[in-house]
Amino acid sequence: MPALLPADGRLLVVGAGLAALRLCQEVRRLGFVGEVVVLGREPHRPYDRPPLSKHVLLPGPGDAPGPSPAGSVSDLAADGTGLDDLGVDVRTGTRALALDPLARRVTTTTGTTGTTGTTGTGTTGEERYDALVVASGAEPVLLRGDGPQHAVRTWEDAVALRARLVPGARVVVVGAGWIGAEVATAALAHGADVTCLEAGPAPAWAAVGEAVARRVLTPLWRDVRLRTGTRVDRVVDEGVLLADGALVPADVVVVGVGVRPTVGWLRGSGVPLGAGVLVDEHLRSGADGVLAVGDAAERWSPRWRRRLRAEHWEEASTGPAVAARVLLDGPEGTPAHDPVPYVWSDQHGARVQLVGLPADDAGVVWREHVDGSPTATWLSRDGRLLAVLTVDRPREAAQARRAVGRAPDRATLADPATPLHRA
Ligand code: FAD
Repeated sequence: MPALLPADGRLLVVGAGLAALRLCQEVRRLGFVGEVVVLGREPHRPYDRPPLSKHVLLPGPGDAPGPSPAGSVSDLAADGTGLDDLGVDVRTGTRALALDPLARRVTTTTGTTGTTGTTGTGTTGEERYDALVVASGAEPVLLRGDGPQHAVRTWEDAVALRARLVPGARVVVVGAGWIGAEVATAALAHGADVTCLEAGPAPAWAAVGEAVARRVLTPLWRDVRLRTGTRVDRVVDEGVLLADGALVPADVVVVGVGVRPTVGWLRGSGVPLGAGVLVDEHLRSGADGVLAVGDAAERWSPRWRRRLRAEHWEEASTGPAVAARVLLDGPEGTPAHDPVPYVWSDQHGARVQLVGLPADDAGVVWREHVDGSPTATWLSRDGRLLAVLTVDRPREAAQARRAVGRAPDRATLADPATPLHRA
């Protein structure tokens, strides 16, 4: 199959986050000299989101927030090649409204949008393309109710929340996943009184299963009033109303119950949508000339024989290299994008790293380290290593990246003295 994008063609990228930045870097690296237009609904050029919860929220030097991402592409995003250097036309404050894939046209409006709404009046326009890459990311799921709630997805979100994290503030975090843990960590560092309401039995249980979450993650939450098995009904002015009718009073409510891909603008376009844009292992959607990368994509994984929505930094960072090659060289000869999923989280003074995709608790093999937290590993029924969860063991996490997919000896795997990739 030939290239999807002619050498003098027009590439349109919707979304101006990490995945968009990487895509632009890659097409230029591969020698594409045609026009590249990036539409971003935030008022900023691409910036990195992990520092929002890991740095911006924390008390810092002079107690001031970190550097503004406004106007900076490369400062926060990796290897220093900014979009200006790449000759990319970045239209911040411009939102894609709808797609007509037959006419290869995207309708747009100006006026910036963040997690908390749209500002500015819109002027509508149209952008034509030869190839379109959907990089519109994801946005936080919010709770019902009229009371004020914070989420952390954008720079503005983080700055607004940080201003509310003051000593003694009653901060209620809803959701004990990766983001909830980092928000709770930051709130504690400001001297706030932190409660976390979690519907499941343990922190991040949906990602790692109940048994591992209880053993590895729950102990990290010792400084937080962690209320598991607690269902939230809605946010009210006084705090959070639970499903059983009880009120949990709060000065600040932060929601961390997950994200959903920002693909509403594609509804009705005919582009196949599942939880995100449905794409194959080359990140192609069913629509001609339309690819999707990063948090917006739900991709087919030959390795795991299922669809995946990774929602992680590394996914958004690495998928665009494959998309760029597919655009410029075609899929034949381009390796599939099918990495082992990886996520890290800095929480409660520890670095948690999850490599791979955990299965059910039955396949868990523990590595009992004498100094500190045990490492959990998961084996499939046919003995392949599926995933590894470590706490403060970066070397073991690096080994895990080489080991996932192999069939280790079970007894050796359980021996913490043996490197994971040698088990
Ligand atoms: P985004 O970063 O969401 O970028 C998409 C952009 O598109 C946004 O600017 C959005 O406003 C814009 N957009 C949306 N719709 C439109 C439209 N219709 N028109 C124009 N523009 C549009 N991952 C990890 O692996 N480890 C971590 O420790 C970690 N920490 C995180 C901490 C925080 C606070 C957050 C929010 C995320 C964290 N992540 C982490 C996840 C990681 O940041 C994301 O996976 C990554 O940002 C995804 O990049 P993306 O470019 O696909 O999407």
